[in-house]
Amino acid sequence: MNAPARAKDSRAPERMKAWVLGGPDELLLVEKPVPRPGAAEVLVRIGATAVCGTDLEVISHGPPALVQGGLPFNKNFTPGHEYMGTVAQLGPGVDEFDVGDRVAVEIHAGCGRCERCREGMYTACVNYGMNYGDRDKGHRANGFTTDGGFAEYAVNHVNTLVRVPRDMSDEEATLVVTAGTVIYGLDVLGGLVAGQSVVVTGPGAIGLMGVGVAKALGASPVVLTGTERDRRRLEIGRKLGADEVVDVSREEVVAAVMRITRGKGAHYVLECSGAPNALNDAAHMVSRGGRICLVAFPHAPVPVDVAHLVSNNIYVFGIRGEGRSATRRAAALMAQKRFPAKLLHTHSFPLAEVPTAIRYAAERIEDAIKVVVKMR
Ligand SMILES: [Zn+2]
Ligand SMILES: [Zn+2]
Repeated sequence: MNAPARAKDSRAPERMKAWVLGGPDELLLVEKPVPRPGAAEVLVRIGATAVCGTDLEVISHGPPALVQGGLPFNKNFTPGHEYMGTVAQLGPGVDEFDVGDRVAVEIHAGCGRCERCREGMYTACVNYGMNYGDRDKGHRANGFTTDGGFAEYAVNHVNTLVRVPRDMSDEEATLVVTAGTVIYGLDVLGGLVAGQSVVVTGPGAIGLMGVGVAKALGASPVVLTGTERDRRRLEIGRKLGADEVVDVSREEVVAAVMRITRGKGAHYVLECSGAPNALNDAAHMVSRGGRICLVAFPHAPVPVDVAHLVSNNIYVFGIRGEGRSATRRAAALMAQKRFPAKLLHTHSFPLAEVPTAIRYAAERIEDAIKVVVKMR
């Protein structure tokens, strides 16, 4: 028999408003039952949900969402994965959180039972999407394989929650998971960045967070690259701690990094642009034995100068998401106000206007960086 939910838990209504994905690029506002938390889960009353580039992929094309073994269309699936809120109800046996706690969430709970989950690499869970039918391994990645945050409520595994302080705004708290991705990237690069040079290529939300986090961890110098179109973002990058910004429309990017590092090349490159030649450029801007973390990727396969990578002992890593509890460490840095993350937030829309929010993010209307759906 399940333990009864705690007495003070019973505040969630029976039904809620939620956006669901119809066909590609078709979002519908519907009423759905409010989900109920199971063991090791809580119900989160969502406060704000940021729009991410990956949401645009999911809504238009499907992957990396995987719902009931296939594309996420016409399955009553709610997208949205970068959200924060308040704990509204506790599942049986949960004492890690209390009703009323303010939390930011990470996306992936994983299955908790595969080799990768056991190693803390739950964003690379080998049972990704296996949460249905007779292959139900309990995998959760909200907004990808389970319902996400463009709704009034969502269920989260306790492992995916991190408390955020009262003086962090809802909008800023949605950015905790973005900073978590950066910390995970720096983890796989080797972790210690104080006094080492970090080049961040591409000033999107993750790139700008990369600048803030690298600077907070003592990297020196921190270099941010972008194009003429990114002028405003490069300015924000300076405010987040970039020692140098490079407009690659004006200066060849490898030459610029070599100038800044006095011909040595950088220790680390955090590739956040997804530009077709970004890996080759990164390979030529790191020092011999340097390390590159690929956070973004081009849409089509690209030729890579493998001989240069091998003959210069250059390490290349790819990461997905925010493994190894990086989100908790990111939340700690942000709670300490180590960098002004809120500069990334440019627009807010109410829940009723999710399609407009998505259009602002997709088309970069009014120079949008992080567009946030605010529930109330
Ligand atoms: Zn995202
Ligand atoms: Zn797993």
